[in-house]
Amino acid sequence: MRTAASFGVRPEAVNAFLALADVLNRMGDDNRRAVCEQRPEQWSSDATPPARQDAAAACGFCPAQPACLAFALAQREPAGVWGGQDFTPIPKRKESAA
Ligand code: SF4
Repeated sequence: MRTAASFGVRPEAVNAFLALADVLNRMGDDNRRAVCEQRPEQWSSDATPPARQDAAAACGFCPAQPACLAFALAQREPAGVWGGQDFTPIPKRKESAA
């Protein structure tokens, strides 16, 4: 049996992880899958900003959205789209030579 730690979950995020897993499991029991499972590349930090924006909007229709966002905040996710928010850092602009 895998533990939350084996998924790289921070100790302070374990409860949020278990809550999210519970919602996703219940969705699975109803033969529903989160849309991010079907197109994970669009939720990745490697996706284009418009693609991530669309992904974040799609999260709004996901029953797991509140639990997903709570987990991402507790886990301090560094990038990607989670629970309707894009955590991907915005690249710094280069200073132009004057
Ligand atoms: S809220 Fe978004 S990122 Fe979270 S499980 Fe649902 S579709 Fe995936």
